[in-house]
Amino acid sequence: MRTRSSAKRSAHVITLGCAKNLVDSEILMGQLRANNFEVSHEGDAEEAPVVIINTCGFIESAKQESIDTILQFAQAKQDGRVGRVYVTGCLSERYKEDLSRDIPEVDAYFGTRELPALLKTLNADYKRELLGERLLTTPRHFAYLKIAEGCDRPCAFCAIPLMRGKHRSTPMEELVKQAEGLAAQGVVELILIAQDLTYYGLDLYKERKLAELIRRLSDVSGLRWIRLHYAFPTGFPMDVLDVMAERENVCNYLDMPLQHATDHVLKAMRRGTTRAKTTALIAEIRKRMPGIALRTTLICGFPGETLQDQQELLEWVAEMRFDRLGCFTYSHEEDTHAYALKDDVPEAEKRRRMDEVMALQAGISEELNMAKVGQVFSVLFDKFEDGVFVGRTQHDSPDVDNEVRVETGEQEHIRLGDFAQVRITAASEFDLTGELA
Ligand code: SF4
Repeated sequence: MRTRSSAKRSAHVITLGCAKNLVDSEILMGQLRANNFEVSHEGDAEEAPVVIINTCGFIESAKQESIDTILQFAQAKQDGRVGRVYVTGCLSERYKEDLSRDIPEVDAYFGTRELPALLKTLNADYKRELLGERLLTTPRHFAYLKIAEGCDRPCAFCAIPLMRGKHRSTPMEELVKQAEGLAAQGVVELILIAQDLTYYGLDLYKERKLAELIRRLSDVSGLRWIRLHYAFPTGFPMDVLDVMAERENVCNYLDMPLQHATDHVLKAMRRGTTRAKTTALIAEIRKRMPGIALRTTLICGFPGETLQDQQELLEWVAEMRFDRLGCFTYSHEEDTHAYALKDDVPEAEKRRRMDEVMALQAGISEELNMAKVGQVFSVLFDKFEDGVFVGRTQHDSPDVDNEVRVETGEQEHIRLGDFAQVRITAASEFDLTGELA
């Protein structure tokens, strides 16, 4: 009979891709720790008995980064610096056979729903009682809460449903319990994520339950900021705005990837909406939530996108004046609906269009930031770097949005993870500078 040795074993986990993948790594590490593993995350792991790479398979550049990382550790194993290498996550879910054939040095490949099998291979038990418990990798004052997995949307360019499956909401009681656990650990900012946040509940409760979930989470003591990411425009549950208006600790912030603005391209992308409907939705959100910070994501170079589409997109971005905007070039992903279309916009032209959108946005962002000079904001401090404290307002999500940089005097003290009132003294495109108010 195989026994579990009491000696501490160690494993190093590497996460690629999005915050949803990060939560999966945190859950994996929570399970490993409960099985007497010493676990480390990110950073230099050139020497480790076990390395687990949690991959991303979203678009070409992300896939390439995952493959390069796998090859790097396959080589480290060849050189005897790493004992065993395991691969999991989206790329592995999507290309397991190809990867096993092309990079056989890897000990085993796992899909996105094979945590128990991965643990078994490491001679560890999957501890169901730990459901939702995880080893946080974010600074201890904020954490992501993944409220659902998978997606039922038909977006033509997207491979995520191929890797993450159908939409599955996590039961509300479990999420509230997770949030209470995180708040008890000192988390004050909870960032709600999913492939499509607004679909929450439709599978489990046969109705949209995001508003009710936010209200329940907002009741969890200790949570000062609740932030919403990945809202889908079509069928957006307007009752969410009621909760945002009602609850002080729900950030006046919304991330809603919109992907494009011309009816021609939105139709080809199978987004189920139009420019007029999207514009009306944004106007309604801004009317009901004055001062809300809206973040969006756009794709340039979708098959069939014309120069006229690009021009219309630029006019729309200038009109909408988003607070935060990210932009990708279209990636021709096999097995997606769009793969049947001709990828007719050359890569260089896709990048030119993306740069055009981002240059326009940089100007808008600077104007919006300049308007904040002289105002006082509550800032949550994340880090201290180059002699400066760096934090965010409720209008800024970690890693993707603006930062507020504050230099302190001799007598002034800021603790990371704390809030402080900051008067903005200067602004640039993507950052603010301030002083303690
Ligand atoms: S909503 Fe669309 S883009 Fe987002 S994960 Fe689902 S299919 Fe992909």
